[in-house]
Amino acid sequence: MPREGFYRRVAMAMVLAVISDIHANLPALRVVWQAIDELSVDKLLCLGDLVGYNARPDACVAEVLSRTSHIVRGNHDKAAATLESLEWFNSVAREAIRWTRRHVEPATLRRLAELPKGPQEVGDGVVICHGTPMDEDRYMMDESTIEESFGCLFRSFPAARVCFSGHTHVPMAARMTPGGATATLVSRGGEFLLDKDAAYLINPGSVGQPRDGNPMASFGILDTERQTYRNVRLPYEIRETQTQNKAAGLPQELAERLAEGW
Ligand code: ZN
Repeated sequence: MPREGFYRRVAMAMVLAVISDIHANLPALRVVWQAIDELSVDKLLCLGDLVGYNARPDACVAEVLSRTSHIVRGNHDKAAATLESLEWFNSVAREAIRWTRRHVEPATLRRLAELPKGPQEVGDGVVICHGTPMDEDRYMMDESTIEESFGCLFRSFPAARVCFSGHTHVPMAARMTPGGATATLVSRGGEFLLDKDAAYLINPGSVGQPRDGNPMASFGILDTERQTYRNVRLPYEIRETQTQNKAAGLPQELAERLAEGW
């Protein structure tokens, strides 16, 4: 018997794939496309940071934009397109942004500059943002930021029950009931069943530069028919990305960290 409730009502058999923080890592992105193609996904959402850190920005931007139904910009996209706020990045990230700026096609820069700012409500009870619903550049790392984010979600998007965010490169899911006092950490990976009365903040992890100690590419699948969310991890040819980075003259530590998942 299917359960009644919000997730049942919003859509029939809707499968949403969510990707984030691709960071110009084409070998990782291609593995994710393969998995998404096999899953017969209805909608693909992207939470930004298409470029930065790795060596294939043009292809990643073109492929992501041709497939996503909804997207928001990330801080690296904004910085590469405008060269604003570079002081917020560490020296290696800054160098990669300058490399991106010098090497991408003019059309890619235009497309990066046109990416919409989050948060965006995308229908089916879902909101997407890069950092938090309050601020696209803020990291959702601690309990108080998670609770502030739920408060913002309930106030600004009363119809929404799932808010996806990226930026930290760490998979995470937290649950809170509207009107509730505290948020609960639900998951740092794997699959869980959605509680029909609760709202969720979910980070699908990073496709192109995971930072949770697991170097496999990460993305998410929300299934409103089965009422489940699943964090998917996939191995890819890390060496291929490292070779591309080396040939491009990008900082060595950016290639090394891929193998460690940090
Ligand atoms: Zn990122």
